[in-house]
Amino acid sequence: MSDIIQLLPDHLANQIAAGEVIQRPASAVKELIENAVDAGATAVHLILKDAGKELIQVVDNGKGMSAMDARMSFERHATSKIKKIEDLFEIRTKGFRGEALASIAAVAQVILKTRREEDALGTHIEIASSAVSSQEPVAFAGGTSISVKNLFFNVPARRHFLKSNTTELKHVLDEFIRIALAHPDIAFRFTNNGIEQYNLPGGNLKQRILALLGAGMDKNLIPVEELTDVVQIRGFIGKPEAANRTRGNQFFFINNRFIKSAYLNHAVSNAFEGLIAKDAFPTYILFLEIDPRKVDVNVHPTKQEVKFDDDKIMYAYLQAAIKFALNKYNVAPSIDFSLDASIQNLDALKMPMTEHRQQEVKQGYLYDKFSNAGQAHFIERREDRKQWQQQQKAFFPEMPGTGLEVQLPATFDTPSAVQPMLLSDQLMDETGSKSVIQWTDYLITTMKSGVVLLHQKRALERIIFEKLEERMLAREHVSQQLLFPIDISLSPSDALLLNEVLSELYLLGYDIKPGAELHDYVIVGVPSDIRGGQEQQMLEWVLEQIKNESGQVTDERRTILLRTMSKKMAVPRILPAEQAQSLVDELFACSQPQYTPDGKLIFRILSQNDLSALL
Ligand code: ADP
Ligand code: MG
Repeated sequence: MSDIIQLLPDHLANQIAAGEVIQRPASAVKELIENAVDAGATAVHLILKDAGKELIQVVDNGKGMSAMDARMSFERHATSKIKKIEDLFEIRTKGFRGEALASIAAVAQVILKTRREEDALGTHIEIASSAVSSQEPVAFAGGTSISVKNLFFNVPARRHFLKSNTTELKHVLDEFIRIALAHPDIAFRFTNNGIEQYNLPGGNLKQRILALLGAGMDKNLIPVEELTDVVQIRGFIGKPEAANRTRGNQFFFINNRFIKSAYLNHAVSNAFEGLIAKDAFPTYILFLEIDPRKVDVNVHPTKQEVKFDDDKIMYAYLQAAIKFALNKYNVAPSIDFSLDASIQNLDALKMPMTEHRQQEVKQGYLYDKFSNAGQAHFIERREDRKQWQQQQKAFFPEMPGTGLEVQLPATFDTPSAVQPMLLSDQLMDETGSKSVIQWTDYLITTMKSGVVLLHQKRALERIIFEKLEERMLAREHVSQQLLFPIDISLSPSDALLLNEVLSELYLLGYDIKPGAELHDYVIVGVPSDIRGGQEQQMLEWVLEQIKNESGQVTDERRTILLRTMSKKMAVPRILPAEQAQSLVDELFACSQPQYTPDGKLIFRILSQNDLSALL
């Protein structure tokens, strides 16, 4: 028998390889726009017909190509961006594998027009299924125009698998938005079937975000900027109230390249915890700059996942940066910096700073917390804060006459650049006879910075939530034994659920023992602050809530538990004057006074300006 192994013909090899790089119009759009960006364009126009199935054209005013380069650009592994192997690790441009144009030309009909500024005439090339059908000089304005017609015309199986125009357009829009966010200084236009989708002038990042995500975001963006020795973090996050019910506006860029990272997303979400509802997604557009040698993004041309040398540190820095940003903009007047012990103990976090970034880094907010010599990367914990609070109390003794325990909030230790702190205002304002007005659901009081409108029930939810949480963390079981234990009988599935949360309920003060029958239980003790008659109902609410928010991991269950209980335990009523004042104080002593555990705003401060706008 004769030998059977053959080399694949070039055009077939190209077609197969193309499948890796080009899956749909959106992938061709991405490659073509990135080439325009790499070519230094300041204006890029994307023109589609039928969501790119019929035509994808990208016109740029970049540096163009010589006749020779134009021809070469369609060869596999033809790239102007890599010359030696070390370049691979320093790469800053978008593409470098020299595969995109070869791949596109293997599966479509391509027309390229390009001219460099210094050339009198440009070059016109037509190529389809990897075969050049014409190359000639042409008069052309400058820059590059590439038209890709009938994508996959020669690979029917692939063409057949393209989705509806609406779906393909959606994919293109996703890519377009990512690139446009990464390059706010470049003007982008985008038309499909003659209809303009976007027309974005060059500008700064904020302007670009507003142009892409809606001008309504304007008052909801909080800037993030942190320089550390390992990573520089810049960008914007949305205020908690701008959080979405869908995972829409979440963007990470590493070295200006869009990436997806469930891990980093977790870090951000964690920083927002307690500020937004569990089922809401925070908005973020964040740019991380890392030494390219310490991150591996280029594993695959279309790969959007990353691998860091040390991702735990990245997580810690990112989370802290977001907390700082929230704090600085007074969304979270005080923050708990407690990080995972395993992170605090990382060698790298204890190691001294590298020389070269030290100066830069010293100006960052994270510096104090993470980079002090000796106690490098020390992160404050709750206990420290408590101790500090007690010291402060010596200086600000309890208010005469009120008989309440004035708990100072832990906000004094934040950087002085932050906006005036709420309670410090209040203390200075305090005359001893200060009154809190109650009207329907609201409490109204004043502070130096303005008139405070406060929602009583929501305030109670927050206060109770933190109390319960603290109790749970401290593992103190504060229970009130019932004179008449309550028998409950549950469905098998509810019994199972109850069993799973029994130990947590115990920490919250519930004392529940197995009953006579398999699915029976006896409540013998309840949290001391539960109203009589509600003991059983509360338990049922909690189980119901956990069922509704099913599929959660255990530690989220705990939050649901706390959230549900505090919601139910928060019962507003008309309070005697000093209790109303004490409620206000207690709220501001919370670590997160501004929002309820499920993200509702608790109070608003009407400033002089706000009021004069009204009256
Ligand atoms: P890569 O971008 O990975 O180098 P491509 O196949 O995308 O590979 O492009 C091959 C080469 O063609 C690029 O390295 C670049 O020199 C040139 N090129 C492609 N598009 C443009 C453009 N719009 N303007 C100028 N040069 C371009
Ligand atoms: Mg490229």
